[in-house]
Amino acid sequence: MNQDCIFCKIAAKQIPSQIIYEDEYILAFPDIQPQAPVHFLVIPKKHIESLLEAQPEDSELFGHVMSILPEIARQANLAEDGFRVVINTKHNGGQTVPHLHWHILGGRFMTWPPG
Ligand code: 5GP
Ligand code: ZN
Repeated sequence: MNQDCIFCKIAAKQIPSQIIYEDEYILAFPDIQPQAPVHFLVIPKKHIESLLEAQPEDSELFGHVMSILPEIARQANLAEDGFRVVINTKHNGGQTVPHLHWHILGGRFMTWPPG
């Protein structure tokens, strides 16, 4: 755990969040500033600063997240109309919290290209 990291604090339950999914490796909760009618964040419990700091031994975690994301989307009734998954990475990617996270966005049409 990184003591200065807001998502580590959420994972450690030091900052409350409305957890919608949790297992040994990951946690999912609503974004505090939703950009769509449905906006969840999925984070690893392990502190990984961004996609660029992920290590080969994290590949199991990545596979796990990819298998759980559709389940979270189904639970949120996003399966029929679809949804978007985003990993903002470092400055140009728009990453503001330096703890790896997946955004799940849905409930409206997502424009392309993104802003
Ligand atoms: P990023 O900009 O790094 O891709 O995404 C970080 C996201 O975390 C933002 O969408 C922001 O609204 C969300 N966020 C930041 N602090 C908190 C918090 O304390 N609680 C929750 N639930 N979301 C947060
Ligand atoms: Zn962290």
